[in-house]
Amino acid sequence: MEWTRSETIGLASVQCTTCHGLGLRPVKKGKEAPCNCVLRSIFRACFRRFRKSVEQEKHLSQCTFNFTGGRERSMTWGRKDEEYIADFLLMVRRLLSDDEYRIFRFHYLLGADWRLCCVRLKMDRGDFFHYIYKMEARLGKAFREVEPYGLFPLDEYFHGATRDVVAFTPPRVGPMPLRPPMAA
Ligand SMILES: [Zn+2]
Repeated sequence: MEWTRSETIGLASVQCTTCHGLGLRPVKKGKEAPCNCVLRSIFRACFRRFRKSVEQEKHLSQCTFNFTGGRERSMTWGRKDEEYIADFLLMVRRLLSDDEYRIFRFHYLLGADWRLCCVRLKMDRGDFFHYIYKMEARLGKAFREVEPYGLFPLDEYFHGATRDVVAFTPPRVGPMPLRPPMAA
C-alpha cells in the first residue's frame, strides 16, 4: 500500500529527528516509507481503542448490521467491540515472537511499568525500551497495512464499510456469532 504525506503528517511527532514531523523517511531510490514515529502513533491509537473496548460495560456493546461484501449474504450482524478485541489480540500474538509477547503481555495487558517488567523479565532498561519501540512500530505498521480489514484507521474499522449502520440493542438471546477475525 501507498503511504502519503497527507496521511502521515497528522500522525508524526514534531520532535522526531528522523522525519522532522513529516512522517515519511527516504528509503532507497527516491522512495519513502512511513517513519517509526508514525507507526508507533498508530499502535498507540489502536491500543487506546483496545483498552476502551475492553473496559466498557458489556451491556453498552452494540450489535450492528454490517456490510461484508459476500456474494450471497452481503450484510451480517456483528459486535464491533468484541471483534476488535479479538482482531487486536490475534494480530499481536501472530506478529510477535514468544519473548516479545511475554514483554507485551506484562507491559500492555497486565499493566506493569518498565521497572517491574525489567525485574520480572530480567532485562535492563535500555533493552526493555528497545523492544517496546520495535514492537510498537511493527504492530502499528501491520495494523494499518493488513488486508482486508486493517485495524487502522479506527473510524474505517468501526464505521468504514458500515455507513448505513443500524444501531440495535440485541434481544436477550444466546451469544451472537462473530465474524471470524482476520480472515485471510
Ligand atoms: Zn518520525
